[in-house]
Amino acid sequence: MSLQETAEAPVDSFGQFFREGGEGTVALPHCQDCDRHHWYPMERCPHCFSQRLAWGSVSGRATVYSVTTVRYAFTAANRGRTPYGIALVTFDDVPDVRMVCRTGACEEGSDVAVGDAVMVSVTADATDQDTGMVTCAPLPRNAGSGAHGER
Ligand SMILES: [Zn+2]
Repeated sequence: MSLQETAEAPVDSFGQFFREGGEGTVALPHCQDCDRHHWYPMERCPHCFSQRLAWGSVSGRATVYSVTTVRYAFTAANRGRTPYGIALVTFDDVPDVRMVCRTGACEEGSDVAVGDAVMVSVTADATDQDTGMVTCAPLPRNAGSGAHGER
């Protein structure tokens, strides 16, 4: 696997997740003992309970596992932004990790469907680096395989 590890940084922090991520980068907690990723950030590996965790970058390429449409604005920030989609995606290079992402909006609510290839992006909030947004955008139909070589 061509995953990159980052230097020591808190791995039990959502804020660190938004700081580690960025344009074209998704960083997930990675266990140094059992070599597995997990989501969400926590103090110990959920697979082997090790505390030897680091952030490991993944490609961000993923497949939509499920999707739903949100039609009610639960917060003031979302007023006027409904409907929008929420997708649960499976990362292509770490298929045992799934993450919830916001999808692009369209008239029906989401611009992705189950099985679609997507690219996940992490964006830290400009005023509060401890919060941010995880989004996914559809990839062209034939761009899903081969870009990262053989696995
Ligand atoms: Zn582990």
